[in-house]
Amino acid sequence: MERRRVLLKMSGESLCQTGGFGIEPRIVLDLAQQIQSGLADGDVELAMVVGGGNFIRGGQVAGQGIDRVTGDNMGMLATIMNALALQSALEGVGIETRVQSAIQVNDVAEPFIRRRCLRHLEKGRVVILAGGTGHPYFTTDTTAALRAVQLKATSLLKATKVKGIYSEDPAKNPAAEFYEKVTFIEVLQKRLKVMDSTAISLCMDNGLPIQVFSMKEKGNVERVLRGELLGTLVH
Ligand code: UDP
Repeated sequence: MERRRVLLKMSGESLCQTGGFGIEPRIVLDLAQQIQSGLADGDVELAMVVGGGNFIRGGQVAGQGIDRVTGDNMGMLATIMNALALQSALEGVGIETRVQSAIQVNDVAEPFIRRRCLRHLEKGRVVILAGGTGHPYFTTDTTAALRAVQLKATSLLKATKVKGIYSEDPAKNPAAEFYEKVTFIEVLQKRLKVMDSTAISLCMDNGLPIQVFSMKEKGNVERVLRGELLGTLVH
């Protein structure tokens, strides 16, 4: 059986209420259950990248007494906490999981080693990639693009708060046009809000399609893992 290898990117905020702080176990458990159902057919290899914005974003605290690089380091450490929460919830529903981190935290997670990561995926383990890229001035969206390319994923599944990509922010302009498909060039030229330009360029240059979907609708994580084309395809 041909297996699809996908990389699922979730923001840190997907582990708590929108605009909230920290981790809500109830939400993490729901996610784990959806992932379990989404993988039940055994035809998907899943790597995940989780953000850290539910704790701190370096760019937002910079200039307020915490310097940018320190804030970024804190943000990357936050992704490790999120990854551990997800790992625990996934193992609670019977999914074998490994956390690999770009920042060395050998007592709690493996280092990111590409070949070892691929081996885990082949064995059907979910691999949660934590610690961002390990470098300040990047985002976890860029991490997701980088890891997806490195691991030769067939697509990057980017979970968001809205249905997909619109011509403008639908919260500000209800008449904003929704796109089912959009090209990388259009995303860059129209400055459509999907991921930062570093992440988009990396996907574009390496022909990695991005499926942008809402995780606010119940069950969408499961559906997208089953291969449903929800939201917007960037190609
Ligand atoms: N970060 C970083 N390098 C990386 C990835 C993340 O410095 O490679 C820091 C950065 O400060 C970022 C924070 O970690 O703001 C949390 O990541 P992100 O904002 O991407 O999280 P999300 O918005 O997806 O929750």
